[in-house]
Amino acid sequence: MATIRKVSDLDVAGKRVFVRVDFNVPQDEKGAVTDDTRIRAALPTIRNLVERGARVILGSHLGRPKGKTPSLSLLPVAARLAELLAPQVEEVKLCDEVVGDGSRKVVSDLRDGEIALLENLRWEPGEEKNDEALSKALASLAEVYVNDAFGTAHRAHCSTVGMVKHFAPGKRGAGFLMLREVEFLSRLIHNVERPYVVVIGGAKVSDKINVLTNLASVADAVLIGGAMANTFLAAQGKNLGKSKLEADKLHVAKQFMERCARDSVDVVLPTDLIVAPSIDALDGRVVDVDAVPLDQMALDIGPATAREFASHIHDAKTVFWNGPLGLFEKKPFAAGTFAIARAMAESSGTTVVGGGDSVAAITEAGVEAKVSHVSTGGGASLEFVEGQTLPGIAALYEPESE
Ligand code: ADP
Ligand code: MG
Repeated sequence: MATIRKVSDLDVAGKRVFVRVDFNVPQDEKGAVTDDTRIRAALPTIRNLVERGARVILGSHLGRPKGKTPSLSLLPVAARLAELLAPQVEEVKLCDEVVGDGSRKVVSDLRDGEIALLENLRWEPGEEKNDEALSKALASLAEVYVNDAFGTAHRAHCSTVGMVKHFAPGKRGAGFLMLREVEFLSRLIHNVERPYVVVIGGAKVSDKINVLTNLASVADAVLIGGAMANTFLAAQGKNLGKSKLEADKLHVAKQFMERCARDSVDVVLPTDLIVAPSIDALDGRVVDVDAVPLDQMALDIGPATAREFASHIHDAKTVFWNGPLGLFEKKPFAAGTFAIARAMAESSGTTVVGGGDSVAAITEAGVEAKVSHVSTGGGASLEFVEGQTLPGIAALYEPESE
């Protein structure tokens, strides 16, 4: 059986170790890091390598630069990382390029336990093209390769795929963040503990239908809320007034429900909704799902629906949640989403949240620490639970040694 080696099982003392991290952090107009969650998430791997005397070379992309865009330099990231690692590490040496004589010099001068950070990998146009010359140049900087950037594992770039083949089995592996993501997300699709409840909300059926379809083949119940649910309710012939829905996806929703009925998967849709005349309304009112006024739109699940969803979550051994249940960015329409966040926190089962907006909601609800796993992946997490093979993970596998 093929396996992925853990960073802690690699021989790294005195070796140059390239670590692909995800430091694609949000910044303000002046470039200061406004949320360092992604930098903190890589610390366990970096600290482990430093403690074992590795010479650490970090690589990440930041934003979508066109060539060497100075505003997308990793300088502020290097500064924040140095603060987080002090006093264990004295400095983070920022190379002013990705590959070239300058980087080679910085890297070859590294002593055991020291850290260098390459400049924004996407300053090199070859990175996103998985260009072989760049892959080779990156690989030549190091003796060992570690990937801890789960958030970019769904991309086949030089730093996630191309350079990896230049490291023999035993010289490549996954960092702690990557391993944790794979462990928790795998529990949502293989050897699942039951009952297994999937909660899907968010904006569009078209974004999520592959996730829904794959998870419905394993789940016992699928709870659908958010703007997504409007399309499902419309497919059942209900009138949703002015609600946001995808009129061209009614057949997709219908087919999905028919398949679930055939496979005895419970599809739970809202029975009540919060409606308002517009998204700018200062409050909403509760209506039965059959009584949405023609001039109003559904902007959240209602309290009876929230209670029903919560009771499914309470009784589950495994729960996966992706997609807010309403327009939670606006206070009058956030109650449903926060009720689900609390239910996740109170459930004694394995609870996993994935997706950019859902993770923001769970953090805003203040219950981040009470769910089993908050996936850092966004697009990568969703592709993983869709059952896709992520190229950045596939590249790490090695044959089992005797
Ligand atoms: P995630 O990022 O967690 O995968 P999505 O991007 O699919 O989630 O969806 C999040 C967006 O969906 C949020 O901006 C939220 O306001 C919006 N949304 C959810 N329900 C509704 C609704 N009933 N009407 C309008 N927008 C909604
Ligand atoms: Mg989103």
